[in-house]
Amino acid sequence: MSPNIAKKQRFTGKTAIITGAGSGIGRATAIQMAREGANVALFDLVNDRTFALEQKLNKLRKDCALAVDVDTSDEKRMEEAVRKTVEHFGGLDIVFANAGINGAVGPIEELSLSDWQHTINVNLTGMFLTVKYSIPHLKSKGKGSIIITSSINGNTRFASFGWSPYSTTKAGQVAFAKMAALELAKFKIRVNVICPGAISTNIDESTEMSQDMEAIVIPIEFPEGAQPLAEGPGKPENVAELVSFLASDESIHITGAQIVIDGAESLLS
Ligand code: NAD
Repeated sequence: MSPNIAKKQRFTGKTAIITGAGSGIGRATAIQMAREGANVALFDLVNDRTFALEQKLNKLRKDCALAVDVDTSDEKRMEEAVRKTVEHFGGLDIVFANAGINGAVGPIEELSLSDWQHTINVNLTGMFLTVKYSIPHLKSKGKGSIIITSSINGNTRFASFGWSPYSTTKAGQVAFAKMAALELAKFKIRVNVICPGAISTNIDESTEMSQDMEAIVIPIEFPEGAQPLAEGPGKPENVAELVSFLASDESIHITGAQIVIDGAESLLS
């Protein structure tokens, strides 16, 4: 994607917080939104990638990006990061709660409590804190759009053996999004949740795979072509297009929606 060819300018004058912005889906979304005029706060805990993206975007449009070094599951740092963003850009309109990890994968009896808690903390608590500390700023704008990244795992797909912590968080995110959509509708804050299938990103770096998977795996033979619509996994840019639509006024009447973006992968599994 060339950062110089802007198709639309849906986000001129808007500010977006994007968590997990240093890589994959978050990074592609930050680029897309910045191309379309948004100021983007890039929340991540991997700083070299995130600061490099900040520089790249600020070259594209002066001062449109702010990299924020933050662990989304750390309450104090998240509160401070949201405050810093609003101070820096003068408000908040869009929140993309996207940071996540695969975490520990293995037989339930072998997962430690800290394995379990780590995945819950990053994927669920991090999302909760992102949304919680953003709400007052969206309310003061009189409207807003929140998008949460869940997954097909835990929602339409359950045959990923050993992925019980991850899938539990991804199911929880859908419930949270729908609860929040209803709670926040009267403030004109929309909340939608996306469920990607396999997307080519760096997410595998965050997988802690057990050596004992054989004990629980039931071999499943998938039909030829795991993503019938495509030649393989989706691209982060495909997801960024969907998130941008949900963030924009083009989706003004859509809230509480759970949207699968998987090239029909989950229809096979
Ligand atoms: P990625 O690893 O490329 O990007 C995730 C980013 O989140 C990384 O930059 C990482 O540093 C950051 N991050 C992780 N923990 C964090 C924390 N505590 N605080 C701040 N930042 C943190 O992966 P991705 O595929 O772009 O993942 C984005 C989201 O998409 C995740 O929620 C993931 O579960 C979801 N997802 C991904 C896929 C896929 O196949 N890639 C499929 C379904 C859902």
